[in-house]
Amino acid sequence: MSQVRSTSESMQQIGHYIDGKPVDKPSDRSLDVTNPATGELTAQVALADAATTREAIQSAKAALPKWSAVTPLNRARVMFRFKALVEEHFETIAQMITAEHGKVIEDARGELTRGLEIVEFACGAPHLLKGEHSLNVGGSVDSYSMMQPVGVCAGITPFNFPAMVPMWMFPVALVCGNTFVLKPSEKDPSVPMYLAQLLKEAGLPDGALNVVNGDKESVDTLLTDPDVSAVSFVGSTPIAEYIYSTGCAHGKRVQALGGAKNHMAIMPDADMDQAVEALLGAAYGSAGERCMAISVAVAVGDEVADTLVERLKPRVENLRVGNGLEETGLEMGPLVTREHLEKVSGYVDLGEKEGATVVVDGRKREFPGNNGYFTGGTLFDHVKPDMRIYKEEIFGPVLCVVRVPDYDTAVDLINKHEFGNGTAIFTRDGDAARQFSTDIQVGMVGVNVPIPVPMAFHSFGGWKRSLFGPLHMHGPDGVRFYTKMKTITQRWPKGVRADSAFVMPTME
Ligand code: NAD
Repeated sequence: MSQVRSTSESMQQIGHYIDGKPVDKPSDRSLDVTNPATGELTAQVALADAATTREAIQSAKAALPKWSAVTPLNRARVMFRFKALVEEHFETIAQMITAEHGKVIEDARGELTRGLEIVEFACGAPHLLKGEHSLNVGGSVDSYSMMQPVGVCAGITPFNFPAMVPMWMFPVALVCGNTFVLKPSEKDPSVPMYLAQLLKEAGLPDGALNVVNGDKESVDTLLTDPDVSAVSFVGSTPIAEYIYSTGCAHGKRVQALGGAKNHMAIMPDADMDQAVEALLGAAYGSAGERCMAISVAVAVGDEVADTLVERLKPRVENLRVGNGLEETGLEMGPLVTREHLEKVSGYVDLGEKEGATVVVDGRKREFPGNNGYFTGGTLFDHVKPDMRIYKEEIFGPVLCVVRVPDYDTAVDLINKHEFGNGTAIFTRDGDAARQFSTDIQVGMVGVNVPIPVPMAFHSFGGWKRSLFGPLHMHGPDGVRFYTKMKTITQRWPKGVRADSAFVMPTME
């Protein structure tokens, strides 16, 4: 396989992938890519201007007629080969994720596995695109639906899952007969470029998947160009809202997934050992840089809160933190950039000022001789709903414990939060769990499952300001998003044709 990265003046330059080829055009603007575990500069990524972005859109537009005419079965076969290639290069890709994102290697493997599951789902294209058929909706009249491609689709993705989130999008879009332009995060751009090369090797025609690296300039081009028909976005809420309103104003269908503040309610009858283990992984795994991370533990009753805090404290103090490329068995890596580390530390300062109890202070953990963007885990107790550390998404290894007196107050608290991505309840009471699942205003709910990420054949998405647009990602909603439904009602007249009808047809 040819190399996507090229070396110029000893620094690796990451360009774009357009029309089946790596594009290394000189760019006026570029950004540094670093290894978050060492602070080392590893590459520079070009930021596409509007003209380069349009080139990618035009390539996708040119590839559309041929690719959309490929049978669903043959599109699926490309996905089967892609799956085999990703499996073959699995370890290389996992290491690329860790090197640019910082998450520990086991977690990078988990991310890639979840991405592969969407590829497996997309391999079912002939079944997914069958549509509906009704015989004799009226006398000798049949109805059936066609699920046709939307056209050129764009995907704009965040830094925290450089493999999985793009894989939520392009496998489904492609098997539905669309072509695609991906604009990945500029913080960890290598994996999407690599995946594009593997897809070509799997037999995807040139231009069917293009990758443009860039920032607002390329995003704005994707949002306004008349040749883009649909935009999928995953990232923070202010940008999701901007993407939704701008894309819709330009006549596109848009699904824009935003930020989160996920609560886990712990009932007095919960298995506390299980709840503590679940909270540790869900709050501190991937250094809290997951849209499904639990950042608020809602302890129902002071006894639950005291037990939780007492058991969590030593574990949070001793989280195994390190460089995922050098050690195994780690629980947490660094944060993605120095700016993000400063932002997260700023929130810990703020929580202290706001009057929350700092049980464990991640800022105090030392990493001697290391220039990486490391911090320890932070645990706050007695957090109140009017504090900014409760209201805002921190996106770091910071867990807030909020104490509530009863179940109703817990539900009310969660329902009043502006975000509604994921939530969980830990309890042994089936009735409480069932009531919680019904009442809660959140898109993804776990019962004794802390991170309830739906499998590929279900759909992923939040409520409230965690999702703009009606359709979730992958699963049945993914297929709906990437297809246009057409319904045909047909009659093949026998003998004399019907007379003209001036009233609404009722199909008697
Ligand atoms: P981000 O919003 O900063 O960036 C996401 C994408 O938008 C990137 O490709 C970026 O280049 C682009 N972008 C950034 N600023 C822009 C602007 N002004 N105009 C146009 N495009 C712009 O998000 P991030 O920091 O990369 O990722 C973390 C965020 O993503 C968190 O808020 C997290 O909750 C969220 N997230 C949500 C989900 C979900 O499923 N709801 C999943 C993963 C991440």
